[in-house]
Amino acid sequence: MQTVDVAGVAVGALDAGGWVDHLCACVSRGGAHHHVSLNAAKWVALRTDPELRRIVHSATSVAADGVGIVWAARLAGTPLPQRVPGADLAEALIRQGIVRSWRVGLLGARPPVLQRVVEQLSTAGADLVFAHHGYFHDAAAIADAIAGARPELLLVALGSPRAERFIGRHLARMQVPLVLGVGGTLDVWAGGARRAPRLAQRAGLEWAWRLALSPRARFQRALVDTVRFAAAIARGERVPMEPS
Ligand code: UDP
Repeated sequence: MQTVDVAGVAVGALDAGGWVDHLCACVSRGGAHHHVSLNAAKWVALRTDPELRRIVHSATSVAADGVGIVWAARLAGTPLPQRVPGADLAEALIRQGIVRSWRVGLLGARPPVLQRVVEQLSTAGADLVFAHHGYFHDAAAIADAIAGARPELLLVALGSPRAERFIGRHLARMQVPLVLGVGGTLDVWAGGARRAPRLAQRAGLEWAWRLALSPRARFQRALVDTVRFAAAIARGERVPMEPS
C-alpha cells in the first residue's frame, strides 16, 4: 500500500473504498492484522508513549481518522485522498461481514450499550461469535476467550489508547485476521451518542461538533491536544521512528 509520512507516522493513502477493499483482503488472507485510526490526539500521545508508538508503528495499516492528519499531510506537500473515520470503516466492515458471512467479535462499551448493539447486529444478520463489555480486569482471559471464539473481524471499543494497548499486547495470542479500535462507535450505534450531521462531517468539522457536545473536562483535553498537535506540526516535529 502506498503511504504518506505524516510527521513520523506512515499513513495509508487510500480513499474510503480503497480502505474497505484493503481491510477485506486482510480478512481473506487470515493471520493477525491491526488497523489503526489516527487522529491528532493519538499523534500527540505517540510522542510521549513508547508502548503506543511501538504498537502503531507495527500495525498493519494506519488511516487518517481525523481532519488534522489530513491537514498535516497537505501542509507537508503529500496530500492524502481523504479522511477515513474509523466509525465509517467499522460500519462498512460490518456490512461486508454480513454479506461475506464473517465471524464477528465485539469488545467494549458499557454492558447495556453492548447488549443493544448485539441485538441490532444479530437482527441485521451478523454472525456474532464473541461479545464482551469493556469493563474487565483480566485482559489475558478476555484475549483467550476471543482466540477460542475465532472471529475474523474484531471491533474493540475501549477508547484510546486502551484499545490500541489491548490489541497490541494480545494480537499474537488472539490471531484475529482483522482487529480495529473503534472508539465510541458502539455508543453511536446503540443510539446513546450522536455523530455530527453529514454536512459537518464533509466540511471536516466533526471534531468541532464532538467538542461542543462533550463534557467540560474532555472539551479541555481535546482542545489542548488539538493546539499541541497544530503547534508541533508547525514546528516540524515528528514521532520518533524507533519505538523508544
Ligand atoms: N470504555 C470501555 N472500557 C473502559 C473505558 C471506556 O469499554 O474501561 C468504552 C466506553 O464505554 C465507550 C468507549 O470505550 O464505549 C469510548 O469511551 P470514551 O469515549 O471514554 O473514550 P476515549 O475518550 O477515552 O477515547
